[in-house]
Amino acid sequence: MTHPIYLDHHSTTPVDPRVLDAMLPYFSEHYGNASSRSHAPGRTAAAAVEQARERVAQSIGASYSEVVFTAGATESNALAIKGCAQRRPGAHLVTSAIEHRSVLDACRRLEADGWALTVLPVDRFGRVDPDDVRHALRRDTVLVSVMAANNEIGTLQPIGEIGAIVRTSQALFHVDATQALGRMGLDVDAASIDLLSLSAHKLYGPKGVGALYLRRRPRRVEPLPLIEGGGQENGLRPGTLNVPAIVGMGAACELMIESGAVERSRLRMLRERLFGALASELDGLTLNGHPDERLAGNLNLGIDGVQADALLLGLPGIAVSAGAACSSGSVKPSHVLEAIGAASAGARAALRFGIGRFNTEEEIDRAAHLIAKQVRALRERR
Ligand SMILES: *Cc1c(COP(=O)(O)O)cnc(C)c1O
Repeated sequence: MTHPIYLDHHSTTPVDPRVLDAMLPYFSEHYGNASSRSHAPGRTAAAAVEQARERVAQSIGASYSEVVFTAGATESNALAIKGCAQRRPGAHLVTSAIEHRSVLDACRRLEADGWALTVLPVDRFGRVDPDDVRHALRRDTVLVSVMAANNEIGTLQPIGEIGAIVRTSQALFHVDATQALGRMGLDVDAASIDLLSLSAHKLYGPKGVGALYLRRRPRRVEPLPLIEGGGQENGLRPGTLNVPAIVGMGAACELMIESGAVERSRLRMLRERLFGALASELDGLTLNGHPDERLAGNLNLGIDGVQADALLLGLPGIAVSAGAACSSGSVKPSHVLEAIGAASAGARAALRFGIGRFNTEEEIDRAAHLIAKQVRALRERR
C-alpha cells in the first residue's frame, strides 16, 4: 500500500531527515547525562543542549538563558499559565475562545480553583480585537494568553498590538506560538511577549519536546514549577534532559531560521493551487478563517451537502483532518468553528488542510481530484 498524501501538518510534521541525522549520535555515541558535568560524556551532552538552546532562542529573537526545555507545547502552556497564576492566588486571567485545548483547559481548571477568567470572543475570521484585550485588563490581571496562529483555521493574531496593550499593565503576555515559528515573523521583543510556547513536532522535529521562553529583562518572569526534582532547567523543569530530542529541536529551529521565509511562499502557492483546483470543480465551498492573515500552509474549507465522517471514510488516500461544522454527524463541532460562527445546522463538512515542507504540486493536484470526486459522489447520493 502506498502512503496517503499527508495534508495534516497542523497535527504533526514528519521529522526532517537533516534533523534526524543531527539527533542520531545522541542516542548512541553521545549518551551522556547533560547534568553530569564531571566527565566528558556529560559535558558533550551539556554542550549539545546549550547549542540547541541558543538556536531556539535565536529563532524567536530571545537570549539563550531565557529558554527552558519541556516535553512539548502542552507542558509549556501549563507551566506558563498555571505557573504564573500560582504566584497570585485568585487573580484574573484573560484568554481567547479559539485557543488550543491545552491553554483553554488550563485556564478553566484555574477558574474552577478560584481564579477569575475572561475568555475573549473573536470576529468571524477568528481575530481577537486588541481593544477587547484593553477592556478586559483589570488591576489584578496576572496573565493574558493569546495564540500567534490558530491550529485549525490558521488565523494569525495581531500579537504586536496586543502585546503593546498588555505591556501598559501589570499583566504578563503569554503567546502559544506552536504553529507560528517559521511561518510568520516572530520576535519576543517586537511583540512585547513575556512567555512563549513552542513544540518541536510541529516544526519537523521530534515529538515529546518543546520549549518555553521566559523573559528576563526588564522584569524576570518566574512561574512556579509544576514538578519538583533535581533542579534542571533552573528548577523550572526538573528531570533528566531528553538530549537527542532537544538536539533535534535545535536543528529544526535552525532549518526554520534558514528557510522559513522561502518555505512560506511555496506553501502559499500550494494552498492557492489546492483551493483553486477544488473551487473549479465544486460549488458550495466556504473558506473558514481569514483570507489573508493566515498560515501559508493552512486551508480550512466548509463543504456544503456532505458529512465530514462520510467524506473522510471515502478518502483513504489522503491524510486530512475534519472539524465538522455541524453536530449532526459523529464528528463534534470544533470550539474554533463555533467561535467564528461557522458551525451551522445544515449538512456541511469542514476539512482542515495543513500543507507542509515535503508536499509536491502533483500531490496537491491528486488530492484535489480525489476530494472533488468523493464530494460529488456523496452529493448525488442525497
Ligand atoms: C499541537 C499544539 C499544541 C500542543 O503541542 P504538543 O507539543 O503536542 O503538546 C499546543 N498549541 C497549539 C497551537 C498546537 O498546535
